[in-house]
Amino acid sequence: MNQQAASASPQSIHSSKSKQKYSFNKLQKRLRRNVGKAIEDFGMIADGDKVMVCLSGGKDSYTMLDILLFLKNIAPIHFDIVAVNLDQKQPGFPEHVLPEYLQNLGVDYKIVEEDTYSIVLDKVPEGKTTCSLCSRLRRGILYRTAKEIGATKIALGHHRDDMLETLFLNMFHGGKLKSMPPKLVSDDGQNIVIRPLAYCSEKDIEKYSNAAEFPIIPCNLCGSQENLQRQNIKHMLQDWNKRFPGRIESMFRALQNVTPSHLVDKNLYDFKAIATTDGPVDDGDIAFDSPNFTSASGIDDENSVQIVNLTE
Ligand code: SF4
Repeated sequence: MNQQAASASPQSIHSSKSKQKYSFNKLQKRLRRNVGKAIEDFGMIADGDKVMVCLSGGKDSYTMLDILLFLKNIAPIHFDIVAVNLDQKQPGFPEHVLPEYLQNLGVDYKIVEEDTYSIVLDKVPEGKTTCSLCSRLRRGILYRTAKEIGATKIALGHHRDDMLETLFLNMFHGGKLKSMPPKLVSDDGQNIVIRPLAYCSEKDIEKYSNAAEFPIIPCNLCGSQENLQRQNIKHMLQDWNKRFPGRIESMFRALQNVTPSHLVDKNLYDFKAIATTDGPVDDGDIAFDSPNFTSASGIDDENSVQIVNLTE
């Protein structure tokens, strides 16, 4: 025991516990509010839906399930939840953890056992990354399971930071301005996939998961490294955020505030049809402004020479 702890008075211990409880309650409220807002904004869940909540045993999916169960109880609509875990037969997967947890919660659940681990080992040459085949197999099994259990929505635990990482991955390595949508129709056209944590930050989820003491299952059982390029982008974003607080939030706001006429995609905007008008136009360009005047919110940019609030 350290000196400080040894000398702490009962009053100071009580006060520190109250503070912890207060900040946990605030965090919980924020996460619940963000999930509720995402569900509302994107029409993720409707009356009568059966939501298949994909549970990997990581912090994100536990948090998603926890919050959806809370919202189910207070929502003005009725929807059902079925938690689904895919046991991919990775060595050392602790099979008992999720069934015990879900039974204690009293939630409907299904554990799907499919040995994708062996398939991936068999098909992917040694030294090559296994994630892409593994994810494709997992996706197919989850879609099939959704149909089997009659689910109308499939909920995945991706959050705001996953969405931003995907945006940069696609820009840096795919030459596309494309992120991870909060709601989409699955590849086979048969399922609707939702991401209720779309507005939640990874930091909040991590704190919540630690405080809630979810029985986390490690995600490296397959022995494969998490996608290296994604890791690099994660580090880049974390570094930016340290040096320029607020940048992540600003970038995420940008994802919700797109001006197709000011990008360069001729399929998205009919540039050929542009013509003059009698008066000012919405979203008109300030055509000859310096490109260095970059920030509409006044937030600094690494390369900017001058910061100007264009809204002033
Ligand atoms: S890290 Fe392992 S379990 Fe995860 S997608 Fe890659 S191969 Fe599959």
